This record gives sequence, structure tokens and C-alpha cells, in this order.
Amino acid sequence: MTDTKVECVKGNIASQPDMDAVVNAANAELLPGSGVAGAIHSAAGPGLAVECRALAPISPGEAVISSGHNLPNRHVIHCLGPVYGVDEPSDRLLAECYRKALLLADQHRLVSVAFPAISTGVFGYPLKEAAAVAMKTVADTLPSLSSVGVIRFVLFSDQDLSVFREALTREPELSGD
Ligand code: ADP
Repeated sequence: MTDTKVECVKGNIASQPDMDAVVNAANAELLPGSGVAGAIHSAAGPGLAVECRALAPISPGEAVISSGHNLPNRHVIHCLGPVYGVDEPSDRLLAECYRKALLLADQHRLVSVAFPAISTGVFGYPLKEAAAVAMKTVADTLPSLSSVGVIRFVLFSDQDLSVFREALTREPELSGD
């Protein structure tokens, strides 16, 4: 959609009640872990891990969808980002995460989806490069979307927020916030 709103906010990915789906920076087994996966699974409750058992394992660049359980969101979209310097080509695999997550959201007729900065925690992807991949992939994927109208990036620190905002301004076809 050409009028899709792309925004960057500081916050917790597990506390985005106005979003239809939140994206999990998952591990291959879709188990609770540290960082984003820990926050999402603890807010969703044990039912999420039970549902995820049937969907795992996933490979780098892959995305699967589950329900949101006790989260305020209808769905969780689980992406396995690349481990930087290990899963190659890292930039293509990271782009695949964003692209597939957006297409899955669209196939489920969702309007709003919130992403964390996939791969930039334990998986070691440099933030600035990751932000550029994220924004470019959103820009490239927008023409294929018919339902998704709000894409939110949820960053954990002021510094991360400013890096993502800067990357957003570098994609002229994204409206900004
Ligand atoms: P990965 O394993 O894909 O690197 P992580 O969960 O370790 O995923 O971290 C991804 C990014 O999300 C990091 O920048 C981290 O600071 C941030 N982060 C961690 N917890 C949260 C949270 N609850 N909400 C939003 N972002 C978070």
C-alpha cells in the first residue's frame, strides 16, 4: 500500500496493545529465551511455547505465525534472524525476515505489525546496517501489501531509536512519522 505509515518508537515489543501482530526475534526452536523472545513468551504465557512446538524448527530468514495467547495482540510472527558473520549472506537473510513477516501479516489480513530490531542483540548484527536493511526491505515490500497499513519499529534505547529514525529518513518512499 502506498499510504502505509512507518514509524519508530522507543518501548517494549511485548507492550504494543494497538498492534494486530508483534514480531518475535526468535530462536530456531521457537522457545522462550533472552531479549525479545523472553519478553514475548513471558507476556504471552506458556500456551505460546506449546503452540510453537508444532511450528519449530525454523531456519534463518524464515517466518511463521501463531496466535498471541495472553499478549494484547492477535498474532505473533516469529522470525529467525541471521547470526551475524555466521549465517550468510547475513543481509539477505535479515531482509527475508522482514519481507516474509510482512507478507505473512498481509496474508492474514492484518493491518498493523510491530517489529523489534531483529538480530541486533545476541545475534550481533551491527545496528546501523540492520536498520538500513530493515527500512530498505519495508520500502521494497510495500507494493506487495494490500492489508498492512501501519508498520512500527520498537527500539529498546534512545540510541537505537535514533539509528532507526535516521535509516527511515534515508528511504524517501517511506512517509516517516
Ligand atoms: P536476536 O537474537 O535476534 O539478536 P535479541 O532479542 O537478542 O534478538 O535482540 C534484538 C534487539 O531487541 C536488540 O537490539 C535488543 O536490545 C532489543 N530488545 C531486547 N528486549 C526487547 C524488548 N522487550 N522490546 C524491544 N526490543 C528489545
